[in-house]
Amino acid sequence: MKYIGAHVSILGGVDKAVIRAHDIKATAFALFTKNQRQWHATQLSEKIIHAFKNACKKYGFSSSQILPHISFLINLGHPDKQVLEKSRAAFLNEMQRAEQLGLTLLNFHPGSHLQKIDQQTCLKRISESINIVLNKTNHVTAVIENTAGQGSNIGFRFEHLAKIIENVEDQSRIGVCIDTCHTFASGYDLRTEQDCIKTFSEFNEIIDFKYLRGMHLNDTKSTLGGRIDRHHSLGQGNIGKIAFNWIMKNPRFDNIPLILETINPCIWTNEIKWLKSQCLN
Ligand SMILES: [Zn+2]
Ligand SMILES: [Zn+2]
Repeated sequence: MKYIGAHVSILGGVDKAVIRAHDIKATAFALFTKNQRQWHATQLSEKIIHAFKNACKKYGFSSSQILPHISFLINLGHPDKQVLEKSRAAFLNEMQRAEQLGLTLLNFHPGSHLQKIDQQTCLKRISESINIVLNKTNHVTAVIENTAGQGSNIGFRFEHLAKIIENVEDQSRIGVCIDTCHTFASGYDLRTEQDCIKTFSEFNEIIDFKYLRGMHLNDTKSTLGGRIDRHHSLGQGNIGKIAFNWIMKNPRFDNIPLILETINPCIWTNEIKWLKSQCLN
């Protein structure tokens, strides 16, 4: 079964995200559980937790169809001790919020070295951050996303993600989310079926499909290896439609949230409809 949806807004409360996902005929969705541009998070009330869980039940979303995303401010590999501590505390808070909402996945970008520490030190720091947070929580899997490699962002090579996983103590609660825009921007081609086969064989060899917990389905304005993070609507960017058709036909992408973060929410309903029409079952 393919779970297909988009990253929907939480305006008016997290429970409203569920209704928005239902409205665009999604079978999966992503959301922030707080304002993603602020460090501060107001505690989730019993009332809102209840409303969220009820809406999920009503519209048929299980936790395996929902991929919450953490705040963009958090940098789990930050070179500065103080900001690193702040990031770790915020990450723990996000994990706890996900647990409160009955969710089991939490998507995050690995971090940036800001040209102040080397890549290996940064990757180690990220694993350490994950270990600290997994130790203090019970049910949520930390899902690292590959990046476009913009600026000093780490995690744009499959080897980076593999290295982070290698140093995580509880590997049953670590996973990855592959963003097609980021993959292409960081130099892995996806334009033909042959390219897709090659890129995902490399993914399987270096990381392993068993860690794949979600996908972000985005076309891109970046050139191949252009290392910029600019999304586009499906079929309108430099990847084109073949990759998305290939993913929909492939059972290796079954039963995980497949999330659009494409730039025009007005056409999400159509994009979801098109993706569904490409599935074999
Ligand atoms: Zn993404
Ligand atoms: Zn992106």
